[in-house]
Amino acid sequence: MQSPYGNVWSSSATAWLRFLSRHVALLLFLLLAFGGMITVYWFFSPANDSLVNAAVAASGNDSLIAPIYKSVPDRPVLQRLPQSQGPMRVGLVSGHLDNDSGAVCADGLTEADVNLRITQLVAEKLRGRGIRTDILAEFDPQLAGYSATAFVSIHADSCDAFIDLTTGFKIAGSTYTDSSNLSICIEQAYQAETQLPYHANTITRDMTDYHAFREIAPGTPAIIIETGFMYQDRELIYDNAEVPANGITNGILCYLNGL
Ligand SMILES: [Zn+2]
Repeated sequence: MQSPYGNVWSSSATAWLRFLSRHVALLLFLLLAFGGMITVYWFFSPANDSLVNAAVAASGNDSLIAPIYKSVPDRPVLQRLPQSQGPMRVGLVSGHLDNDSGAVCADGLTEADVNLRITQLVAEKLRGRGIRTDILAEFDPQLAGYSATAFVSIHADSCDAFIDLTTGFKIAGSTYTDSSNLSICIEQAYQAETQLPYHANTITRDMTDYHAFREIAPGTPAIIIETGFMYQDRELIYDNAEVPANGITNGILCYLNGL
C-alpha cells in the first residue's frame, strides 16, 4: 500500500527538479555573481590584520562594538597663507602732552609746543593717505596695551644755549619688540628730509628705557625720536615744522610699505 505521503513527496520533488531545470540559467548567474562578489571582496580587503584586530577587540568583551581601525597618514599642518594683516594703525605720542612742558626756551617756547606742532602735521599727512592715526598724550591712559602697526613718540632736545651748541636728531627703538626696521626707515627718511646729522652719542636712558615701550602691547614696533635741539635747530623743527614732519611721515610710510 502506498503511503499517502509518498506521492506528495515525490510530486513536490519533481516540482523542484522541474523548477531548477527551467531556471538553470538564472541559478548559474546567481552563483557566478556570488563568486564574483567574493573575489572582489577578497581582492580589495586590506592585507594587514585590521580585521583580526577588530575581531580580537570584539571578542575581548561581550560588546558588539568593535573599534574601527583606519590608518590615516600623518600630515604636517601648513598655514596656506600668511596671517592677513589688520588695518594699518599708527600711534603718535606728542611728547610731554598733557603732562609737563618739557624743555623750555628763554622766550617761553616749550618742547611740548614743538612736539605737538610736528605730531599734528605727521598725523594730518598720514590720515591724508587713509592711515588711521592716533595722537596720544605722554601718559595717555590708552597706552596700556596699546596695539598699532607702528608707534612713534616725538620729542625734542633741550633749549639751553650754553650746553646745546650742538645740532642733530636721534632715535631709540623699543627693546621689547624688534623695532629696527621702523628705526632704520625713520632715520634714513628724517636725515634725507632735514639734512640734520644723527646725534647718537647723546642718547639717554630716558630714550632707551622710554616708559611707553613698557606700556604698549608687545608686538608693536616702537621708537622715540628727538627731532632736533631746540636752540640750534629751532628754525628747522619749529618754524619749518613741515620739514621734520615730512621726514617722520616718510619714514613711517617706508616702514609700512616694507611690511
Ligand atoms: Zn622730551
